[in-house]
Amino acid sequence: MAIPFKKIILHRLNMRMIFPFTTSFGTMQDKEFFIVEAVDTEGNRGFGESVSFPIPWYTEETVKSNKDIMEDFLIPILRENPINHPDEVFPLFGRLRGNNMAKAAIEGAVWDLYAKRQGVSLAKALGGEKTQIDVGISIGIQPTITELLEKIEGFLDQGYKRIKLKIKPGHDVEMLRQVRAAFPDTKIMADANSAYTLRDIDLLKQLDDLDLMMIEQPLQHHDIIDHAKLQKEIQTPICLDESIHSLYDAQKAIELGSCKIINIKVGRVGGLSESVKIHDYCEAHGIPVWCGGMLEAGVGRAHNVAITTLSNFVMPGDTAGSSRYWEKDIIKPEVVVKNGSIQVPTGPGIGYEIDEEALEEFRFEKVEYDM
Ligand SMILES: [Mg+2]
Repeated sequence: MAIPFKKIILHRLNMRMIFPFTTSFGTMQDKEFFIVEAVDTEGNRGFGESVSFPIPWYTEETVKSNKDIMEDFLIPILRENPINHPDEVFPLFGRLRGNNMAKAAIEGAVWDLYAKRQGVSLAKALGGEKTQIDVGISIGIQPTITELLEKIEGFLDQGYKRIKLKIKPGHDVEMLRQVRAAFPDTKIMADANSAYTLRDIDLLKQLDDLDLMMIEQPLQHHDIIDHAKLQKEIQTPICLDESIHSLYDAQKAIELGSCKIINIKVGRVGGLSESVKIHDYCEAHGIPVWCGGMLEAGVGRAHNVAITTLSNFVMPGDTAGSSRYWEKDIIKPEVVVKNGSIQVPTGPGIGYEIDEEALEEFRFEKVEYDM
């Protein structure tokens, strides 16, 4: 039976993060995004979250471009094409190029609505079986090594199971050496967000002495060729993030030997259905995956928890607790990390309620579309 959509509502929010977050692109502290609400004729409500930034420094998408794409194309496609299952959404959107984060925001709301209509958790609807997931933490570039070591110590005390450090030229090998010396047994990985080229190969080889779990996306953001060359020269496993936009990209990267690990970000690959496909393909080819973060608020965080319950998410992801980023989140209860793990909610859909008051407090635009 087709899902009887009644309305799609776009809530545009702005939330201030507790800490400014610095990567090789720049620093941000305010997070602007959309909560997409899909309502059916029986009053069930499904929620998705857009993860693009206001500035197109991670992919080409922005918060504004997401709105145009959702309003002008994606919502009309959903209005005109009855669907029975959320797996049908991404192929319908496939007639439009790119804009994966806009597609994923809508598809996420449809998945949540579908799971709620079935009376099952989103995790279960996706085929996940874990009842709790292990998580790590991503730490932005810090002004001094002392501040960085203190931050790491604090997060390890909270139980986080791996530490991801953002690196860029000038903030790399020496910083990582000092961290490794201070924390000899901690699971550490580095994320370069494309800050290097093959000319840096001698520097990147030095990482091999530091026993890192992986180096994430050292080279150009669309590249899989140079990464394959680099992987042949270094022991440290390469994990691809920015280069993987689809199952197709994952297949080619694995075929070329461009990486040994893949970071699946639901928004980057166009939604949960495509994430499951990439997960399954990686599992069949012996490539472990983990779930990356985009500084999500509660709804996006809940979607990440759900996808991480699939079996080949064997490495701790970036899905920290709500309190890592937010004074107050938009879901009830908030996502809580205990001893480095999150208990997967068992209620229908994402398993967290929307905190309507918080939604209203952070919202500065609301548009409704009849279906
Ligand atoms: Mg990354």
